[in-house]
Amino acid sequence: MHVLFVTSEAYPVVKTGGLADVSGALPAALRQLGVDVRLLLPGYTCVLDAISTHDTGVVLPLLPDVEAAHVRLGKMPDGETPVYVLDCPSLYRRSGDPYHDEQGLEWPDNHLRFAALSKAAALLASPNIALKLKFQPELIHCNDWQTALTPAYQHYMSSVQRPVLLSIHNMAYQGVFAPKSLPALGLPWESFSVQGLEFYGSVSFLKAGLFYADWLNTVSSTYAQEIQTKDFGYGLQGLLQHRQDHLSGLLNGIDIQQWNPATDKCLFANYDAEDLSGKAENKQALQQQLGLAVEPDAPLLGCITRLTEQKGIDWVVQVLPDILAEGAQFVILGSGDSKLEQALTRLAHAYPQQISVTLGYHETLSHRIEAAADIFLMPSRFEPCGLNQMYSMRYGTLPIVRRTGGLADTVIPVTPAHIDQHTATGFVFESPNAEALLQTVQYALVVYRHKALWRMLQRNAMQRDFSWQHSAQAYFKLYQQLSA
Ligand code: ADP
Repeated sequence: MHVLFVTSEAYPVVKTGGLADVSGALPAALRQLGVDVRLLLPGYTCVLDAISTHDTGVVLPLLPDVEAAHVRLGKMPDGETPVYVLDCPSLYRRSGDPYHDEQGLEWPDNHLRFAALSKAAALLASPNIALKLKFQPELIHCNDWQTALTPAYQHYMSSVQRPVLLSIHNMAYQGVFAPKSLPALGLPWESFSVQGLEFYGSVSFLKAGLFYADWLNTVSSTYAQEIQTKDFGYGLQGLLQHRQDHLSGLLNGIDIQQWNPATDKCLFANYDAEDLSGKAENKQALQQQLGLAVEPDAPLLGCITRLTEQKGIDWVVQVLPDILAEGAQFVILGSGDSKLEQALTRLAHAYPQQISVTLGYHETLSHRIEAAADIFLMPSRFEPCGLNQMYSMRYGTLPIVRRTGGLADTVIPVTPAHIDQHTATGFVFESPNAEALLQTVQYALVVYRHKALWRMLQRNAMQRDFSWQHSAQAYFKLYQQLSA
């Protein structure tokens, strides 16, 4: 089976969030099952710098006012997964991240940049181009709004149509643009309708995908249900309800090689479920590195996140003084909303021995926090899947999560019954507010003082299998079903 996997980011060559982790790991896991999955990525400067590619000779005219793009081919740094790189310098060769300039503002031509990516996907799967590339995908797997116009382009192409699977990693990002952008996308006005990509008078890339794709998938079964409701559907819940027979929720896995406390080279010391002494060494070394009081018994709470409303960090800010009053410490790594950044920085100045705030993106530090912390905070308002809670459990760092999306599907709450069954792996709260978060943190801190119980919970968590193996099998089945 041959599959074109289209994505706007893929670890380790370009990453802003969980989509990159999935795009880096899932294709590799599928290739192990014998599926010839190849990535299609925009030719951002960082991508062209990270991997060596050659020109395939295929040139794609993409959008009316955009230069034709050259298709280059290389391999991901794993040396296994082939990647087509869409080289279109006027759209992609810039500094900044895939979606924002260096000031953090969205690129004004994002509609063109990601329409071009989607159009390229549709063209690569068409028989003429496939023949030139000697790669005929039976299926196109798109991811998020950035690639969601692919089935719309296919719909208006005369060549053979390939089934399109659209994975939704986050409904909150939809790619909504003014209607006047439509001609530049090279799509007919006819598509601008309720039965198409029109969404409350605007052009919505995600809506196009939800409407035209053959199958929709999201990244946990709870989130697949949630997005069909008003609170989580962002206005698209009606369409999702309508398509519920073509909607699944396959849980993401994690890369268990990259995230393995026994071998992780980023750590100060390695450890495993049998011998957790290395975890204490990581805690001490991180407290030193970040200028916190070096106190082995102070419960250390960690957090690594985009600083957005989604992640519930405003609740953390509200209750931090109360948490610190219990003798705990808090370390956070993240960037995003400037108000949250300022609020956290102010708290760090007020409590220099107990709070460390690192603004920015740091791969090594993120691994060190996972290893050093006792507790990981993830109080998201919504969370399609979430990866950090799984990294945390693997590192013996018990997560505190809200019961939503993939958090609900992966963390087994510490209750008397789950303690007896040796299945409990973390702390779960329900109500979306700071008070509920604080109560759960206080409960976790009580449990933390019971060392033997805490060890057992850590072992339960570390023994959970979050590898891609199960999910990759499920995707493989879905691919077979769709291409049959
Ligand atoms: P989302 O995709 O919504 O941001 P996920 O939990 O699915 O959330 O994935 C986030 C990924 O990005 C994780 O691998 C996390 O460790 C990583 N990450 C987020 N912020 C940072 C940061 N500031 N530095 C390093 N890694 C980060």
